[in-house]
This record gives sequence, C-alpha cells and structure tokens, in this order.
Amino acid sequence: MTIIDGKALSEKIKSEIAQEVEKIKKGGGKIPHLAAVLVGDNPASKVYVRNKTRSCEKVGFKSTLVRKGAGVTEQELIETVHALNNDDDIDGFIVQLPLPKHINEEKITLAIDPKKDVDGFHPVNFGRMALGLPCYLPATPFGIVTMLERYGIETSGKHAVIVGRSNIVGTPMSILLSRKAKVGNCTVTITHSRTQGLSGILRQADIIVAAIGIPNFIKKDMVQKGAVVIDVGINRVEDASRKRGYRLVGDVDYEAVAPLCSYITPVPGGVGPMTVTSLLLNTLKASRKEVYGS
Ligand code: NAD
Repeated sequence: MTIIDGKALSEKIKSEIAQEVEKIKKGGGKIPHLAAVLVGDNPASKVYVRNKTRSCEKVGFKSTLVRKGAGVTEQELIETVHALNNDDDIDGFIVQLPLPKHINEEKITLAIDPKKDVDGFHPVNFGRMALGLPCYLPATPFGIVTMLERYGIETSGKHAVIVGRSNIVGTPMSILLSRKAKVGNCTVTITHSRTQGLSGILRQADIIVAAIGIPNFIKKDMVQKGAVVIDVGINRVEDASRKRGYRLVGDVDYEAVAPLCSYITPVPGGVGPMTVTSLLLNTLKASRKEVYGS
C-alpha cells in the first residue's frame, strides 16, 4: 500500500512554479498576479483565503486580497468583479465561497470573465472541460488528476466510482476520468445520496473518489483489495485530546481501509494541499495566456 503524499507533491510542484517565476523575473516578464475576494467573516473562508495568498507569496506571485463586509450588496460585489475583470495587472481571481445568503452565487460566478476564472467554476470553463478543450480545470479535480499522473497510477480501462455529485468535485471528476486523456479512459459510475446498493457498486471499483462530507463513511467492507482510494472529504470530529477540540478526518475510514488499498490519500495531507497548488498552476496558465490566447 502506498500513501499518496499530497503535501510533499504539492511542495514539489510549488518549487517548480517558483523556478518558473524566477525565469519570468530574469526575462523581465510580468509576475503572475492572483486576486482573492473575501466577503464577511466566515472563519473557514478566512483560513482558505489566507492559505491561497500565502502560497502565492511562497512561489513569488503577486497576490491581492479584496475584503468586503458581510453586508455588501450583490450589485456592489458584481462591480468588484467587473473591476477585477478589467484590471490588466490581475491575471486571475477567485471569489471565495460560500457567500452570504442575500447574494446569488450563480450571478457572481457568471460575472467573472472566463479568461480570469482560475477556479474553473464559470460554465464556459466547465463546458470546455467537458468538450476536452483548453480550460481552467476546477482546482480539486485538477489536483486529483495531477496526483494520479505524478504517481503513475494507471487509469485506462479501470472502473472508477465517484461518490458525490457536487459541481466542484464529484461531477467534474466523473467527466475528467471518463474522457480520452492520459489520466482518463475510465469506465465511470457516479453515485450520490439517492444511489441504491452503494456498497455493492463500490466493491466493483478499481478507483474510488469519495466527496461526500460524512466522516469515515466508506468502510472496509465497501472496498475491494487493490483499490485506489482518493479521499476528498474534510470533516471536523470532536477530539478532546486536541488543543483546538477537534481533528480533521476524511470520508473514508482510513485505518480500516488503508491496508486493503494499492494507493490511498490521507486526510489531512492528501487532496487538500493539491487543491491550492492547482489554483497556482491555473494562475500561471492565466498569466501565460495559455488557455484563451492574448
Ligand atoms: P457537497 O457537500 O456539495 O455534496 C455532498 C455530496 O455527497 C452530494 O452530491 C450528495 O449526493 C452526496 N452524498 C451525501 N450523502 C450521501 C450518501 N449517503 N451516499 C452517497 N452520496 C451521498 O460536496 P462537496 O462540496 O464536493 O464536498 C464533499 C466533501 O469534500 C466535504 O467534506 C468538503 O469539505 C470536501 N472538500 C474538500 C476539498 C479539498 O480541497 N480537499 C475541496 C472541496 C470539498
């Protein structure tokens, strides 16, 4: 059994990105610039945005944080998005979700220029992904595909079972693994909360991607020997022995399932770090105008 070390791999990719930035600097080129819009005081969102801006600094990117109060109106936020769309110095930007309830997230996503949509959430990028055209892949699926590729895990002809159908993980993952590509060519089954006989379906899986949000949901009797298990879940469970009173666990019952697997990602230290690194890769692509040209 091999533990897929997302933390180490993401550090490696970050150092590759940092070298690219050095080359750009030496050549007198424009330093990649990512902006993040943070609305309100959601503690998890603050942590995510801080990680993203810190990672930018680490690889030598420019980063800009745009903070808005929880009371910002939808129109004001759309104007902020338009200003970022029109700012030539900013290569790409993200609007951290979730947004306060009075703001329609769909409207905000649609206002982002697809050329700067480094989160890959705009329907234009999603559609291009589905068609196999150049695009910004959503960061978490991009991170998973990168892990499979860098660990040399064969996907062609394998049966991949995705658990969860969210727009940001499960659904794009099902598209990516089914397409004709280096990491792809799988036979994909996408499952969700209405799926019947999930355990039986999972036992036929060569590759499992779990994106459910229920701690330790995937048990050892649901996994066949030799499976590759990618655990996307990030769940807080109470733990009085920890200073902060909780610890993070995935959607997979790691201790019991890991011995059965050929490869498995831990939580924390698996998919999570790769997600931020993928955002940096998308920003680098944006600054090079690789997806949409100038
Ligand atoms: P979500 O929370 O939007 O939806 C959960 C999905 O699980 C739904 O599609 C639902 O149909 C499915 N589901 C719920 N109960 C089920 C059941 N009993 N059987 C089968 N399917 C069931 O999904 P999400 O936004 O993809 O998040 C899933 C998990 O992944 C969360 O823990 C989230 O925190 C985590 N996450 C991690 C990263 C990362 O970078 N590691 C990124 C995004 C999400």
